[in-house]
Amino acid sequence: MKFTNNYKEKIREIVKDKNLTYYIDTMGCSMNENDSSKYSGILESMGFKKEFDEKKANLILFNTCCIRENAENTLFGRLGSLKKEKINNEDKYIVIVGCMTQQKHIIDKIKTSYKFVDIVLGTGAMSIFPLKLYNVLKNKKTDIEYIDVTNEVEEDIPIKYDDKFRASVSIIYGCNNFCSYCIVPYVRGRERSRKKEDILNDIKRLAKNGYKEVMLLGQNVNSYGNDFKDINYNFPKLLQDIEKIDGIEIIRFMSPHPKDFSDELIEVIKNSKKIARQIHLPLQSGSTRILKEMNRRHTKEDYLKIVEKLKSIDDNISISTDIIVGFPGETDEDFKETLDVVKKVKFDQIYMFIYSKRVGTRAEKMEDNTSNNEKVKRLEKIKEVYEKYLPDNNKKMIGKVYKVLVEGKSKNNENLYTGRTSQNKVVIFEGNEEVVGKIVNVKIISQHLWYLKGKIEV
Ligand code: SF4
Repeated sequence: MKFTNNYKEKIREIVKDKNLTYYIDTMGCSMNENDSSKYSGILESMGFKKEFDEKKANLILFNTCCIRENAENTLFGRLGSLKKEKINNEDKYIVIVGCMTQQKHIIDKIKTSYKFVDIVLGTGAMSIFPLKLYNVLKNKKTDIEYIDVTNEVEEDIPIKYDDKFRASVSIIYGCNNFCSYCIVPYVRGRERSRKKEDILNDIKRLAKNGYKEVMLLGQNVNSYGNDFKDINYNFPKLLQDIEKIDGIEIIRFMSPHPKDFSDELIEVIKNSKKIARQIHLPLQSGSTRILKEMNRRHTKEDYLKIVEKLKSIDDNISISTDIIVGFPGETDEDFKETLDVVKKVKFDQIYMFIYSKRVGTRAEKMEDNTSNNEKVKRLEKIKEVYEKYLPDNNKKMIGKVYKVLVEGKSKNNENLYTGRTSQNKVVIFEGNEEVVGKIVNVKIISQHLWYLKGKIEV
């Protein structure tokens, strides 16, 4: 479905007249960050100016996440603190979008306790945002209705990235996997792959505008193409086509599912000069029993086999992961299995979480006898083991030269510059403004757990 904005000029007039600004608060994952770039693009195409101070902004858009319960508390806390200002300022507008808005109990709570919200919009409903916004700006007509998940793919949405050198591109929306702890399939709908032509055109445009790195996004990025009925085209083939685009030097993707990590994909990574030597491979648990309860449809051994294959094609590949501790019924023995994987893989980055019960998922009904104290201890143990091995990974890089996309000045020391290696390691080094946005060779000279120090090689 093509995005069309019949209200663009009408809204432009109002925005110009009132000099309206916007501020976006993004919660959650990279998919949400990408959606926020689209909301920025839509708002700026209608004349809104970006404001970095939430208090000064006219329109505040909350792009919500519902993976964890505390995100709900955060949103409602923020809304509560805005109430007074909203009621006293007729040019203050509050919009809520994203995953949380696909949950009926959230809409009910907004309707009863936060009536001052102007617009609530579901996922995949950006096309109707201009109409709703016009009704609010022109007619003061608020709109807090539940919109069922659409299984549409919206194309040609204006997009405004904050970054000038790296950009994310969604390639597939939704998820068919129904992991027992996860709410995403309920709030984002079934898998819908974008047409390859639309993706490739987006990336060609980015390359033309000077972007060097793309991050391909999807809840399950490597099931791209499974829903195509008439063509035989999949994720590895898409990667090969992106590889051919001049100007794009680094290709990343997030998140692949281990069950779909095929040998064909590994072969494409092996032969690629552009696919980053960093793979994010969600583990969730190292216990095959718990993985079954989670409905992950792979075992501990399957996971380790993929890591082994990746390391065998390039020992320089760094592996990052997601781990949930304290899933209902997780025993000490199950947890030891997870620790065992952490020790064996020596992850370069772990996003670790304590299990959070989500209403409407299968795991919601599972018996959970582990105390919160114990869950916190398990989380800390993972952190301890991970941090024990991390320096070993970093030390291996000392003395070697890596290609680094330079992002700009270091936030902590304005005499130094910062960038990332293909392995997604942060490196700081001496440089100058001329190297910003370029890929330079940097020799690693020391490691400091969360970053490396290097020297540009001329
Ligand atoms: S693959 Fe599993 S964890 Fe990931 S979005 Fe789908 S259901 Fe959720």
